[in-house]
Amino acid sequence: MKIDVNANIMDVNNAYAAQNRDLLEEKGILVINIMGSPGAGKTTLLEKLLSNWQKQMKVAVIEGDLATAKDAERILACGAAVVQINTDGGCHLDAKMISQVLPGFDLEETKLLIIENVGNLVCPAGFDLGEDLRLVVMSVTEGADKPSKYPSAFLAADWLALNKLDLLEYTDFDMEAALADVYAIKPSIQVFPTSCRKDKIQGLDKLAEAVIQLVEEKQKQANK
Ligand code: MG
Ligand code: ZN
Repeated sequence: MKIDVNANIMDVNNAYAAQNRDLLEEKGILVINIMGSPGAGKTTLLEKLLSNWQKQMKVAVIEGDLATAKDAERILACGAAVVQINTDGGCHLDAKMISQVLPGFDLEETKLLIIENVGNLVCPAGFDLGEDLRLVVMSVTEGADKPSKYPSAFLAADWLALNKLDLLEYTDFDMEAALADVYAIKPSIQVFPTSCRKDKIQGLDKLAEAVIQLVEEKQKQANK
């Protein structure tokens, strides 16, 4: 008998993802899964967005990393509730890991849950966590060829934050070519050009506002 191990792993993951989605839907919590390479600027982007969101709503954050609680400490300093998951070598978060930490949050008061996935442009895209939206963060310093080399991450994304725009002039990043590749992979993707650098902040209010709008829609659906 041949056992399809891969299919089994995905079935288990999808079952946990469906369970997470049901629970979070019932509580009216919008869930965003943030993906991207190590160093794309995911945590810094999140810090900046949190300073905008914290004034209006309670945000919970799950930080995924192979090791350390460095990112969770940064997020905690922003005033958000945070749980760090250390995958101990694992290169992505799965839906079971999320289900195990959800009880640690005040789900009655939380309006938005952000999951910062393990820095990796490959396999996080294959694992549904129960999220509503996937945001890929890619920085201009990574090179314009990344979308065509790692199409699965961009295909799985709803939004793309094209980050570190302040460094564009120091790179040979071909914006036109990169965007052409991104739209060829995922025509419906929404692109947010961003810079999180102090004094060179760009595009963050627009991204923060777009999320708030989705949070409000999710709340309305839950209150039906
Ligand atoms: Mg990080
Ligand atoms: Zn992985």
